[in-house]
Amino acid sequence: MATAGKVIKCRAAVAWEPNAPLVIEEIEVGPPQEGEIRIKIVASSLCHTEMFHLFEGKDKRGFPTVLGHEGAGVVESVGPGVTDFKPGDKVIPVSVAHCGECRFCKSPKTNLCERSWINDHVDLMSYPTTCFTCRGQPILQFTSTGTFSEYIVINQIYVVKIHDDAPLDRVCLLGCGIPTGYGAAVNTAGVTPGSVCAVFGLGAVGLAAVMGCKNAGASRIFAVDINEQKFEKAKLFGATDFLNPKAYDKPISEVLAELTNGGVDFSIECVGNPEVMRAALESCIKGWGVSVLVGYTDVDFSARPIQLISGKTWKGTLLGGYKIKDSLPKLVNDYMTGKIMVDEFITHKMDLEQINDAINLMKTGQCIRCILNISK
Ligand code: NAD
Ligand code: ZN
Ligand code: ZN
Repeated sequence: MATAGKVIKCRAAVAWEPNAPLVIEEIEVGPPQEGEIRIKIVASSLCHTEMFHLFEGKDKRGFPTVLGHEGAGVVESVGPGVTDFKPGDKVIPVSVAHCGECRFCKSPKTNLCERSWINDHVDLMSYPTTCFTCRGQPILQFTSTGTFSEYIVINQIYVVKIHDDAPLDRVCLLGCGIPTGYGAAVNTAGVTPGSVCAVFGLGAVGLAAVMGCKNAGASRIFAVDINEQKFEKAKLFGATDFLNPKAYDKPISEVLAELTNGGVDFSIECVGNPEVMRAALESCIKGWGVSVLVGYTDVDFSARPIQLISGKTWKGTLLGGYKIKDSLPKLVNDYMTGKIMVDEFITHKMDLEQINDAINLMKTGQCIRCILNISK
């Protein structure tokens, strides 16, 4: 490619500070170094974790930054030592690394990788080093990806090669939200056939959890959200019962206990709210109930010890427990062969220039996923 080895000037949406609109800027992206790949990002979606960083997080150090971690694109060039990728390959860059060599990668028990930014820089929501500069200043790469830029450079341990025919403007969703919710149900919770489940929060992550419960054979799936407009989609993904906690004058855990003879077998929290985390645990049946935390927040959560002493299990999940290099190409194939839904999560499509409209839709609960065309 004509651009290989050179600095590329391109467009990106820069978040200069928290609680402010993003600004479309011209940025510089240098050539990939040892082990790195430069990717032309074709499409990217917006996940609630961007909303968290922009509006909710307590730690404000992670600015200025280029947000975006649900993207897909094409390899533009590779740095020295990269042999598994070549220019033209379709890829998904992911926020969770998979080096394949560390003790965590070698263990079947976890998808954490010791080389992932998440180990040491979770409050910054980035690696301190970045590929982006703008107006002579380094701009952080959100969760090591930064897919609201036409080009990114990222270490190969974060990149997954996918099927040549995969539609990038859809499979970008397999970079975070869908595997997270789906894997929370099928991997982390280990939903069993005939079981009763409850999913709290019906954004893309929660809807994917509903789909996971359904595909794992759950007999009854309660969809819980304070925004009743989400119920129709939840039904499409397999939910059988719909509850708005605000419509009851008693805790939702009591409502669920009455409807299920003591509580659900599996509950999955996809909101990122400590009170909902507690309610999800309390909604499980004693003896064997399993509750999984998926929602992200930086505040403490609590529960009474009896909840766990009585035999419940409280777990959490990062990206649904998937080791990216093994699992994401399979999930892309599962989508292409109709085993999992992806198109159904997409409610809006926009150009990168409209990113602040997309943020507003997400913030006001009007959209599940908005796909942004990043490169023209
Ligand atoms: P979203 O904003 O699209 O959806 C959140 C849903 O929760 C909305 O439908 C909202 O109406 C609902 N909600 C809000 N308050 C509620 C309450 N009190 N009770 C019930 N429902 C309530 O978000 P998303 O993109 O689907 O992400 C969901 C969460 O998952 C976020 O916290 C995000 O940061 C987190 N996340 C975690 C991982 C991970 O690896 N663990 C990965 C991706 C996203
Ligand atoms: Zn590793
Ligand atoms: Zn995400």
